[in-house]
Formats: sequence, structure tokens, C-alpha cells
Amino acid sequence: MITITYLHSNPGFFLFGVFLFGLIVGSFLNVVIYRLPLMLKREWKCDCIDFLSDEFKSEKYKLPSCIDEKAFNLSVPRSRCPSCGHKITALENIPIISWLALRAKCSKCQTKISARYPSIELITALLSLLVAYHFGVQWYTLATLLLTWALIALTMIDFDTQLLPDNISLPFLWLGILVSLIHISPIPIENSIIGAMLGYMSLWSIYQLFKLVTGKEGMGFGDFKLLALLGAWLGWQALPLILLLSALVGAIVGISLIIFMGRDKSIPIPFGPYLASAGFISLLWGEEIKQFYFQTMGL
Ligand SMILES: [Zn+2]
Repeated sequence: MITITYLHSNPGFFLFGVFLFGLIVGSFLNVVIYRLPLMLKREWKCDCIDFLSDEFKSEKYKLPSCIDEKAFNLSVPRSRCPSCGHKITALENIPIISWLALRAKCSKCQTKISARYPSIELITALLSLLVAYHFGVQWYTLATLLLTWALIALTMIDFDTQLLPDNISLPFLWLGILVSLIHISPIPIENSIIGAMLGYMSLWSIYQLFKLVTGKEGMGFGDFKLLALLGAWLGWQALPLILLLSALVGAIVGISLIIFMGRDKSIPIPFGPYLASAGFISLLWGEEIKQFYFQTMGL
């Protein structure tokens, strides 16, 4: 454990390392955020075709085949310019720096490259730095870094597509219970398991009640799983604060979108980004917020 001792005595080196690594992870998250929903949709389409071709075997329906579609996953095919198809070289793929060096344009066709890509890289690096600074050199920091990256991916995917993929939510839910079980996390295992259960069931009950009263679906099942994930990582005691914070942030953002941007009230606003941000805030400052609240309430 020479490395850990070295990192302890060189906190600056540790933080700088985490920041740089955060940039690289941010670059990977850009790929996940863009490709994972497309991969899922292709998979669903294939499942539908498989199911229907069994169902209508004897009929004359001609269903499209999904076998000959080219491989598409997180590593294949290589990233290309969406306008001209120019393959992005390793040099053009350095987080932030390449975007600046290319002046936000494709090197071949000069089409603008969105500022969103370097922004996600920078945000990932900054949040990683914050987590590393907050928790210091310990295994729990590594675990919470993984959680932070998962939350960034879920936030952006839900924002773009209104999906919270199980491929991210479920493994991270189990990971949250695991880090409690092996005592990397300060959360006792009972609190983590009850957190996962209550997280899922609380939103599920609200959903059923809302559906019963209004006949509409106010949330998706992805939201229940995301709150279960947060409950597993932060323990059931954190759930009220997470729900309160996400409702608060959600209401502020939602109302200002309707008032200032003229957003149609009937367009559903994804709840995942608010849950994820509230979870992240509670992870870092949950105790401080609770203490502040009890103090101001004179309790
Ligand atoms: Zn191009």
C-alpha cells in the first residue's frame, strides 16, 4: 500500500490525478450518454421483431430482419463526425483540449461541434475533484466516484430521452449494497437494504396513488429504481431529504421553464435529473443540511 501512503502525503497530486482522470471518464460518459439509449432501442426493436415473427408465423406478414444490422455498442464503431463521417482520430479525442484546438469545428467539414461534449467532460472532472476533496484518500472515495459518474450518465440520458436504463441503475443499486456489506461505506448494511426497499416502494406507492386519483402516470419505473439505488448508497434515513430536495429543485426548474421559456405544461419533465442531483447533494452535505435544518427549527 505504498501508493496510498504516497497519496496521503501528496494530496495535491491525488486531487490533480482525480481531476485528469475525471476528464477521461467524462469523455467516455459522452459516448455512453449518446450510444446507450440507441443500443437499447435497437435491442427493443429486435425483441419486438422476434416476438412478432413467432406470433405471426403462419400469416403473410413480412417483418424486417434485425440480424443484418451492423454492430453498434460502446466501443464499435469508432466515433465519427455526424455530418461528414470523418473518423475522429486519437489526437482529436483529447478531452476539452481537442475541442479548443479544433475551435469547436470538425477538422474535415468544419461543422460545429457542440459545447456539450467538453462541458460534460469538465463537469465530470469538477464533480470528481469535489468528491475526492470531500472524502480524501480512502476506498470509499473510489466507490463514490463510480456512483457520481453513474449519476451523471443517468441524468443526461433521462434529460435527453426520458429513459433511466436498468443497465446502469441496477448494477449500481447492488454495488451500493455491496460497499455497505464489505464496510467500505459508513452506511450500515441494514440501513442500505432498507434504503433500497423504501426508496423503491415510496415512489411506487406515490405513483399508484397518483394513477388512481388522476388516471395519469406521473413517473416512470426508472425513477423508483433510481431512488432505490440512492437509498442503497445513502441509507433509508437520507430518503426524506433526497425527496424534499428533488421536489424543491424540480419545482423551481419546472415552474421557471413554464414561465420563462413558455414550455408546454403537458410535456412531461423527467424526474431523474432532480433525484440524481438531490442524491449527490445528500451524499456530500446531507448531514450538514439536516443539522442546519434542525438548528433553525430550534430542535
Ligand atoms: Zn465533419
